[in-house]
Amino acid sequence: MDTYTGKSIFNGIAIGRILFYKKGEQAVTRIKVQDVEAEVARYKEARQSALKQLRQLYDKAIEEVGEVNAMIFEIHQMMLEDEDYNDSIYNIIRNDGVNAEFAVATTGDNFSRMFAEMEDEYFKARAADVKDISERIVNVLVGATSGKDLTEPVILVADDLAPSETVQLDKSKLLAFVTLHGSANSHTAILARTMNIPALIGIAIDESWNGKMAVVDGKHGKLIIDPEYSVLEQYMEEQKKEKEARALLAELKGLPDMTKDGKEIKLYANIGSVADVANVLANDANGIGLFRSEFLYLEKNTYPTEDEQFMAYKTVAQNMAGKKVIIRTLDIGADKQVDYFDMEQEENPAMGYRAIRICLDRTDIFKTQLRALYRASAFGNIAIMFPMIISLSEVQEVKRICEEVKNELDENSISYGNVELGIMIETPAAAMISDILAKEVDFFSIGTNDLTQYTLAIDRQNPKLDNIYDAYHPAVMRMIQIVIDNGHKEGCWVGICGELGADLSLTETFINMGIDELSVSPTFILPIRKIIREL
Ligand code: PEP
Ligand code: MG
Repeated sequence: MDTYTGKSIFNGIAIGRILFYKKGEQAVTRIKVQDVEAEVARYKEARQSALKQLRQLYDKAIEEVGEVNAMIFEIHQMMLEDEDYNDSIYNIIRNDGVNAEFAVATTGDNFSRMFAEMEDEYFKARAADVKDISERIVNVLVGATSGKDLTEPVILVADDLAPSETVQLDKSKLLAFVTLHGSANSHTAILARTMNIPALIGIAIDESWNGKMAVVDGKHGKLIIDPEYSVLEQYMEEQKKEKEARALLAELKGLPDMTKDGKEIKLYANIGSVADVANVLANDANGIGLFRSEFLYLEKNTYPTEDEQFMAYKTVAQNMAGKKVIIRTLDIGADKQVDYFDMEQEENPAMGYRAIRICLDRTDIFKTQLRALYRASAFGNIAIMFPMIISLSEVQEVKRICEEVKNELDENSISYGNVELGIMIETPAAAMISDILAKEVDFFSIGTNDLTQYTLAIDRQNPKLDNIYDAYHPAVMRMIQIVIDNGHKEGCWVGICGELGADLSLTETFINMGIDELSVSPTFILPIRKIIREL
């Protein structure tokens, strides 16, 4: 039994086997081989494993998303059987005397380029698929794990996890994750909280742990490999107690979020995907205060279409059955990088080309999202919120584009609902001119994660600075008060959707400051309800 200590980013206990996660995209190197036929045999074996994975994925997808959407895995199987594709791989191995990984990656690149240059839209779209199947075989050849295809519940151990990788993991099979890198305020950490998964960072990981039993103790930041039976028993007992505590909280379901003297708080939940709504309903949140819509973009290999987005927003709105659903428009940049946006490398991406700045520059992308949002608003109580605002002119421009979108929908007789518009207050600039901005919008939602980063000039991504990233800093608390007061003077309601909103030691303070809404990861809903009702 070995115990390692790191930093916990979410409480809770997980017990299970470790799976060592290697990055999906392998850097393939060209290696000369002596026995080319052995290499061909390696390739054939890997192809069989890939075909098996695809058959399993097809069966799973049929159940979860229906036959039409599952088709892609059948197409991938057909591509893997394609004679030209296979001949190209055999030829490269035999003629150049090189390793199978290199032959597969080269064939994948060549075929993908060939498809991309075709006129026919159907074949053009196959360029990404041929790259995908080639990557799948390379992963099999090098023994890498693709987090998309987990078959049993695991504790995932990785060097680092980017938000784009985390969203693609099969959440139903994820017991916990443990990484060497990462910071407590990163979006990967936020996703762990949203998914209700214990997570540790800053642990010197070791590949030899793969397959071993382990305990993740999120309360004390401990990872225990090969726990002794008595230790395991103790943690199983703790897990049971945790369950019982949650069952007690469940008695609060259905009760109003109201203090003893009658002040009602909007207690909403933060989500990153449509699947998270189940957790929102299970925890009885009264609405969704932040849907980080950028995760729809991070999950994909290309821009989500208007219809795809419409379906996602409509599903969330319908499932919430008339309760408020605040959807934040695309907030990418900094740690949330999306390959297909082809963004230039920046010296300082947190202060760079991101969020509303991209949307106001690439209005085609922005309008596609807004059209999807307005269309979905006919099916529920949707509000739209805009991130990273720094000026009045940005808000006015955003509102002008919203009007344009509504006029276009009117011209096409497409209905939409009565949509509240709000902005995130997550820059000191927005906080300091919140008296002016309040005249323009229906609500403010304070993003304390970025507001703290920009106020204190501390990179939220840098784990070295986690100990001085002080979200209780008086400068941040004063700004929150300024924003609440300025909002109220103009009839704007004010909420907090940053992680500080879930800090149970501050619930009373925020209510005394006059906050109207708290939007938190679903698991914090009932603990906060308990506090509110006791005040
Ligand atoms: C914030 O900055 O507080 C916020 C809620 O947005 P994100 O964490 O996604 O940047
Ligand atoms: Mg933010």
